[in-house]
Amino acid sequence: MKLLEDRIKKEGTVLSDDVLKVDRFLNHQVDPQLMDAIGVEFARLFKDDHITRILTVESSGIAPAVFTGLHLNVPVVFARKHKSLTLNDNLYTADVYSYTKQVNNQISIDKRFINADDRVLIIDDFLANGQAASGLIDIVNAANAEVGGVGIVIEKSFQKGRRLITDQGIKVESLARVKSLANNQVTFEE
Ligand code: 5GP
Repeated sequence: MKLLEDRIKKEGTVLSDDVLKVDRFLNHQVDPQLMDAIGVEFARLFKDDHITRILTVESSGIAPAVFTGLHLNVPVVFARKHKSLTLNDNLYTADVYSYTKQVNNQISIDKRFINADDRVLIIDDFLANGQAASGLIDIVNAANAEVGGVGIVIEKSFQKGRRLITDQGIKVESLARVKSLANNQVTFEE
């Protein structure tokens, strides 16, 4: 997606050979117009996949997921990373190792918000080693629902996340595929 690649080039910061910071439009400040364009693009890519619900994880997945839900006309659910007093025991949970924070998080979703007849589109901001997406896939499986696809805003294709998901026969669509962050430069796949 050219618009997104241009923004990454212009406003992204390479923190290391493995980590890209995009807090000017996605991870802290959020650009609603760009998120809307992202939602339109994911809706186009998954329009024939019979999606009934979108699943993401707080917090940075929420913005692109909500705009995708708007354009696919389906509800959006985000997994929570922290237990809250208002989350009851009726939960699906999965353990996810956080790539950026390097800690294990337990993510959870109230069982009322995912059903066995759902075809779920998983959306996230980044794909690195695939831990977040795998945790969400585990939750969909635990609910006896189906994964209809995985939509990623920024994939780092030099890491192993895509393979982990496609090996399970799941469709993955990424809007920007970063081939390398070496030498403080963002290089995209052709
Ligand atoms: P994975 O679970 O695929 O290893 O990593 C994906 C998750 O880690 C995403 O939800 C995202 O929050 C975070 N993440 C991974 N790589 C990056 C990165 O280069 N930049 C930022 N900002 N977040 C990342």
